[in-house]
Amino acid sequence: MAAIIVHGGAGAYDPGEEHERGLKDAANAGWAIIESGGSALDAIEAAIVVMEDFPIFQSGYGSSPNLAGEIETDASVMLDDLSCGAVGALKAAANPIKAARLVMERTDHVLLVGEGADDFARRMGLESRDLASEARKELYEKALAKLRAGEDVKFLPRLKDLAADFDIDTGTVGAVAIDDEGHVAAGTSTGGPVLQLPGRLGDVAVIGAGTYANANGGVSATGHGEPIMKHVLAKAAVDAIANVGAREGIETVLEYARINEIRFGLVAIEENGAIARGFTTEAMSWASVRDGELETFLSTGDGVRRKKKGKA
Ligand code: ASP
Repeated sequence: MAAIIVHGGAGAYDPGEEHERGLKDAANAGWAIIESGGSALDAIEAAIVVMEDFPIFQSGYGSSPNLAGEIETDASVMLDDLSCGAVGALKAAANPIKAARLVMERTDHVLLVGEGADDFARRMGLESRDLASEARKELYEKALAKLRAGEDVKFLPRLKDLAADFDIDTGTVGAVAIDDEGHVAAGTSTGGPVLQLPGRLGDVAVIGAGTYANANGGVSATGHGEPIMKHVLAKAAVDAIANVGAREGIETVLEYARINEIRFGLVAIEENGAIARGFTTEAMSWASVRDGELETFLSTGDGVRRKKKGKA
């Protein structure tokens, strides 16, 4: 029943070869742990760390700058016994998912944000890093130029009206795994949308919105954080899985997201080991491994889908 599935975010993008390589490396890193009898938690952490370190993904090193040109990351992790931890608006930690795990394992809290969270991560011995990659700096400059020209910024339609009040001169990953003992763990990590307001927390920092797990299974979500929070979609998906099983449950939640026009994607594993995934956006990507069989799925904004099977 042991398995892992990782995703590289839902949105409108064309996942190229680098993206595919990152997904495979992440899924293989997680699978290697599960295969050698390790825990689902260690597996998803290892998989997400690979993607956080890979500049192609919108998380860790590769996160998009906020309106002030700074990186602020969110991450969360949850286990099937309801243990969970999350961090929000981290500026320095190289691997936000490790900080989320340490919140779960070492503190009495569920969520740490901002300077306190960065300070905690440093005290726990986590590495700090300048998370701004060259590609994301370019993306930031382009988005900023649009905003200055009075154009709409994707996902942030009210930003135009706010921009005058700010001194503006100055993509997400996730994984769900089930181990040999049948334990499920889910985690998600993001830099949030480019030009988000400084201090914004998204669904990925909020347990139940971007990440959820319980005895019925686990989910990592991606997409437009604000409606995902309002509709608490990761928890909704786990509840649907409990009611009707992984495949049908996920379809129910995707249909709900479509009806409510929510840009959304998710990967899930049920407590019996069944994997499910899907999205309402133009594109999404994922890779999964079970019994040493690696399966990748990459969908592009123009409807092209590439599906491949191979050895982990
Ligand atoms: N859900 C993330 C956020 O809103 C973004 C994403 O999944 O791409 O912060």
